[in-house]
Amino acid sequence: MRIVRAEAYLVDLDPLSKRTDATLSFEKQETIFVELEAEGGLVGTGYAYTIGKGGRAVLELLRSDVLHLLIGEEAREIEALWHKLYWATHAIAGAITSLALAAVDIALWDLKGLSLGEPLWLLAGGAQHGVPVYDTEHGWLHLDLGELVDGAKGSVANGMSGVKVKVGRPSGEEDAERLSAVREAIGPSIDLMVDANHAFTAAEARRRALLFEKTNLYWFEEPLPPDDIAGHRELLAFTAVPVAVGESLYSPGAFQQYLNARAASVLQPDVARVGGVTPWLKVAHTAELFNVKVAPHFLMELHVSLACAVPNSVYVEYIPQLAPLCLSQLEIRDGLAVPPSLPGTGIDWDRERISHFAIGRAVVTNKSRL
Ligand code: MG
Repeated sequence: MRIVRAEAYLVDLDPLSKRTDATLSFEKQETIFVELEAEGGLVGTGYAYTIGKGGRAVLELLRSDVLHLLIGEEAREIEALWHKLYWATHAIAGAITSLALAAVDIALWDLKGLSLGEPLWLLAGGAQHGVPVYDTEHGWLHLDLGELVDGAKGSVANGMSGVKVKVGRPSGEEDAERLSAVREAIGPSIDLMVDANHAFTAAEARRRALLFEKTNLYWFEEPLPPDDIAGHRELLAFTAVPVAVGESLYSPGAFQQYLNARAASVLQPDVARVGGVTPWLKVAHTAELFNVKVAPHFLMELHVSLACAVPNSVYVEYIPQLAPLCLSQLEIRDGLAVPPSLPGTGIDWDRERISHFAIGRAVVTNKSRL
């Protein structure tokens, strides 16, 4: 199954609603698509994203240095191709290259699934028929207390098993007050997560963990900057609240460092940021060996399949940012997010709409480079 055409383009959409946390706001959904066509006409679709900056850099890397390396290659040899692209770009390894590799790797997995008639969750392991889902969409930092409480109640009514609240208001007491109000609204059996988006110093994270402990948190996400592995380990030793990290890590090796240091309770690999399905699975399986759970960050349309492919996933995150580009939405049945049963990633892309908004097309075929 040789690759005869490789194409990349960008779709740039405004966020559906205002999304803010302690360090960022979601400016744009830049989605970088890669399509790979094999002999015989099957086309695999992959994608990566940014929240507002760098999407064009990823697209340019694909155009100038990556797509042509795929032409004529055997599409089923995904490990070989991932390593070929990794070594072709490793001298500039980082976020941009990981995102570019991810878009290609996801397209390869999609193509393999399509060619075999297998959905991704089975192809990649087949461990669980469904995984609980938690809602981030109603916990943004700018929301006032009433909006936060109403949103949390709505999340539970919609079948979510957990809700996440952003923290990092100037006063820790205010954060704690918001969490208490949400806990009161959702009751004791719904999981409550908090996310600081690495806003705190180690001292402040300890202080806030103490303030938050009485609300029985499921996890304290990104309390510190991602490079401070020792700080995370010290925080874990200080508090009973589990610590979650991973959305700001861009390679499997970065996750390995956290695991080796026993510095995280839950890992949150992001299939786009870590370089694709191939490295995502390695992170999840390595975490299993360390008896650590995974709960992928964002991209629920794809992560539901990966979460169901491995035995140690505990949650999928609900943020419907890609809804305008899809014809159907994440299925939640009896409180569990259910993976698509269609072959490949099974994502029901709205091809017409994507085509309408696509910019910067780069196409390489076995005959020409456009
Ligand atoms: Mg987060």
